[in-house]
Amino acid sequence: MNKKCTWIGHGEGCQSHTVENRNYCEEHLWRIYVKGSQLYKRKKDIRTADNVRMWENIFNQAVEELEAEGWDPTTEINFDWEKHE
Ligand SMILES: [Zn+2]
Repeated sequence: MNKKCTWIGHGEGCQSHTVENRNYCEEHLWRIYVKGSQLYKRKKDIRTADNVRMWENIFNQAVEELEAEGWDPTTEINFDWEKHE
């Protein structure tokens, strides 16, 4: 399983391998996750998103919205790995 990350960004793409069962590499998956959680907080109470399936939905929504907006994952990440393990 050596799929490549499907992140589009501004068209340059991404050559990293994906996380298993995902369409994105680890880096982009986290960026989507973080951004997705921010989007979700805007819409609903984050406390309802307490299970994996809910987060899957957030992910999918976030990916669609972010790519539609042409969001650049390199510009606005403020993420501390150790706090989220
Ligand atoms: Zn990637």
